[in-house]
Amino acid sequence: MAIHFIRDKKQSVYDPYSQDAAVKPIPKYRLPETGSDPEVVTDLILDELLLDGNAKQNLATFCQTDVDRYIHKIMDRSIDKNMIDKDEYPQTAEIEMRCVAILADLWHSPESETTIGCSTTGSSEAAMLGGLALKWQWRKKRQAEGKPTDKPNIITGPVQICWHKFARYFDVEIREIPMEHGRLLMTPEEVLKRVDENTIGVVPTFGVTFTCQYEDVKAVADALDRLQAEKGLDIPIHVDAASGGFIAPFCQPEIVWDFQIPRVKSINASGHKYGLSPLGVGWVVWRTEHDLPEELIFRVNYLGGDMPTFALNFSRPGGQIVAQYYNLLRHGFQGYRRIQQACLDHGAYIAREVEKLGMFELLYDGKGALPGAAWMLKEGIDPGFNLYDLSDKMRSRGWQIASYSLPADAQDMVVQRVLIRHGFSHDMAELMITDLKRCIEYFTENPVRHSLAEQEAGGYHH
Ligand SMILES: *Cc1c(COP(=O)(O)O)cnc(C)c1O
Repeated sequence: MAIHFIRDKKQSVYDPYSQDAAVKPIPKYRLPETGSDPEVVTDLILDELLLDGNAKQNLATFCQTDVDRYIHKIMDRSIDKNMIDKDEYPQTAEIEMRCVAILADLWHSPESETTIGCSTTGSSEAAMLGGLALKWQWRKKRQAEGKPTDKPNIITGPVQICWHKFARYFDVEIREIPMEHGRLLMTPEEVLKRVDENTIGVVPTFGVTFTCQYEDVKAVADALDRLQAEKGLDIPIHVDAASGGFIAPFCQPEIVWDFQIPRVKSINASGHKYGLSPLGVGWVVWRTEHDLPEELIFRVNYLGGDMPTFALNFSRPGGQIVAQYYNLLRHGFQGYRRIQQACLDHGAYIAREVEKLGMFELLYDGKGALPGAAWMLKEGIDPGFNLYDLSDKMRSRGWQIASYSLPADAQDMVVQRVLIRHGFSHDMAELMITDLKRCIEYFTENPVRHSLAEQEAGGYHH
């Protein structure tokens, strides 16, 4: 069979699309009895994946979709490296530690060379680890004081779902500050209303998923300083800087949000978002090594000694971490600054053009936080479509643009948002705006009629 197959392939008549696997239906939900020509199977799968839409026009994701050929090379050569095998792949482990030191320094850790931190699969795992460290530190302190430890709570603004997961999986009450019209972010006042002796920490989001804006870490820290002076409660901060951690240091250095604030004990960021690395890498870094409780650390073999590790996974691919190191070296501070600033400029340009259309109100003008823009339909207008219709129509030109209603208590506000990432150009921004205008014109001529119930569910109003 195999010999026949090879001979067949050598013949000039060989064509993958006329092989059995391409001509006949293939079983998709049960294991086929025999294998097929790898070339044919690869083609079939890659063809099917075309239906996913192309990543470059996906303005809905924060995740990196543009990777250069050197990253492909690094990923290929690293495909067999297991991150957990520190002893077998000591240089991959060393590279991970260098990345931690570089990020700790970028985020102004007072002990960046000795502090502790690790790579994760993304900010979600990083959030679990950051949250666990807060919970352990709080519990140790309470136990030492002989106080109960059964009701921990954590305070957040409108957070990414990973913090809801953390709270549920690790049995912590989440006190999420609801949005209000006119206040879509965490404020010091709202934090103070919710803190008590059972608060394990406050988590400001530095780059809120829904609006792209930064929560004011410094103002929250100052309020917690005053609280400590008055009531003796010492509440740590973990910053969820999934996106902002790789933007602000380069483009908004005047914003004080990181370890420059003593109360900030840990920070997470996604290497696979604005860290510019391929999917599968996040980072969590502690202010100093004393801010991560010893009890959470496991030791693994490493070059005849042992190495501290903190992770939820065991085996994990190493390529993304090596690619992160490549990016840090290859771009340097100035390279990151140029790349992120270009993205910020494209976002602000799109915001300006959208505003000029007259029917939208900007929620985020693309300036001062993440690269992107967010807008709503102006109140009381009926342009013949809602934002979901518009997203849908843009999809017919390949653009993926998110429309969603905000979380509680602003569910009646429907927002459209674009995120701009490395790999986008001014020309693409112009093409996108041209398509947006074309779609709006289409709806002017062919208005969509929504039922009253739909409208009340949030289609038109905010
Ligand atoms: C994306 C994001 C997360 C989750 O990060 P992953 O890297 O996708 O796991 C958490 N918090 C914020 C603010 C995010 O933007």
